[in-house]
Amino acid sequence: MITKQELDNAVKQENEAQEIINQYYREQQEAFDRRMKENPIFTDEELFYSAITLCPCGHGLAYPRNCSVNHYWDCSAILKGEVDEAVEHVAQLPFSMTSIKGESEHNGTTRGVFKPKES
Ligand SMILES: [Zn+2]
Repeated sequence: MITKQELDNAVKQENEAQEIINQYYREQQEAFDRRMKENPIFTDEELFYSAITLCPCGHGLAYPRNCSVNHYWDCSAILKGEVDEAVEHVAQLPFSMTSIKGESEHNGTTRGVFKPKES
């Protein structure tokens, strides 16, 4: 039988572990927020692309891999700092408001895709 003492110790360890986990995610979030503020330009490797959804400008939608669950899909050209101001881009689409499918081997990817609408 597990004693009450052993249970109490386990609960204490669990709480301490949870605090470390929370701290880790807080620090990750702060680092990401700083990055967005100081240098919101990302490389292809840092981005996670949509499977099929494109911005009206013709580039795929994407988001930075280390963003939080409260982040949003955006135009990958904007995220890479290669934005053409002359064309229209998608508004930022919060994850909670959309169900855009992410890239995968099975779903495909918009990585490297550029299909501008014919005008
Ligand atoms: Zn765009």
